[in-house]
Amino acid sequence: MASVEIQGLSKRFGATTVLHPTDLSIEAGEFVVIVGPSGCGKSTLLRLIAGLETPDTGRLMIDGRDVTAAPPAERELAMVFQSYALYPHLTVAENIAFPLRVARRPKAEVDARVRAVAAALDLDALLDRRPRALSGGQRQRVSIARAVVREPKVLLLDEPLSNLDAALRVRMRHEFARLHQQLGATMIYVTHDQLEAMTLANRIVVMSAGHVEQVGTPMDLYRAPATLAVASAIGSPT
Ligand code: ADP
Ligand code: MG
Repeated sequence: MASVEIQGLSKRFGATTVLHPTDLSIEAGEFVVIVGPSGCGKSTLLRLIAGLETPDTGRLMIDGRDVTAAPPAERELAMVFQSYALYPHLTVAENIAFPLRVARRPKAEVDARVRAVAAALDLDALLDRRPRALSGGQRQRVSIARAVVREPKVLLLDEPLSNLDAALRVRMRHEFARLHQQLGATMIYVTHDQLEAMTLANRIVVMSAGHVEQVGTPMDLYRAPATLAVASAIGSPT
């Protein structure tokens, strides 16, 4: 696990400022949930942390190291996308192994890691299937397995459950809590589901229109929302 230190990070697309200069300190091992309405900049913030976007201003430190200019592969993090983004022509085992193959790890190590991760995510019986032969929940578990196979210190998740039905979302919520324990990774998790935020988070970051509105424990924000935007994001009585 690693700490994540965001200092004055901002992003414009053309004339539109999507993220105003933002500061945020995340402790090693913390489970931070980012909430806020659609279009407020949640995905952009995650993509900046991942190195998939370049900031206009600011710095990003991971474990005390300045990675502002580092390519994604050198940040010791992994990202799970809402759309799963699996390779359709590869089997489950090959999808999970992919990041290790890119990193040119030896075959014995690749096989052992794939088996371990598949067991942890209950995918053992599905290793030879292709993504189209999986349910939505199974696909999401494969995308998580692929993200954690290199034992990232930071795991970024962008609305990972939004394509699943309500019952499966509840089950996967418990999986994420367990995964956090098991991996010991720092988790930064974007959702628009209040219940996910309240149950998973050590701290919640509420965003609104490209800035951070308030940061606190679920109880802090529920009891004392600083603004109406926070109250509506958290579902606290106003
Ligand atoms: P969220 O994840 O909170 O829904 P996003 O970070 O995806 O919000 O987007 C924030 C704003 O930035 C939106 O208005 C979106 O249209 C805009 N945006 C995101 N990515 C791009 C891009 N590559 N080019 C132009 N505008 C973008
Ligand atoms: Mg988004």
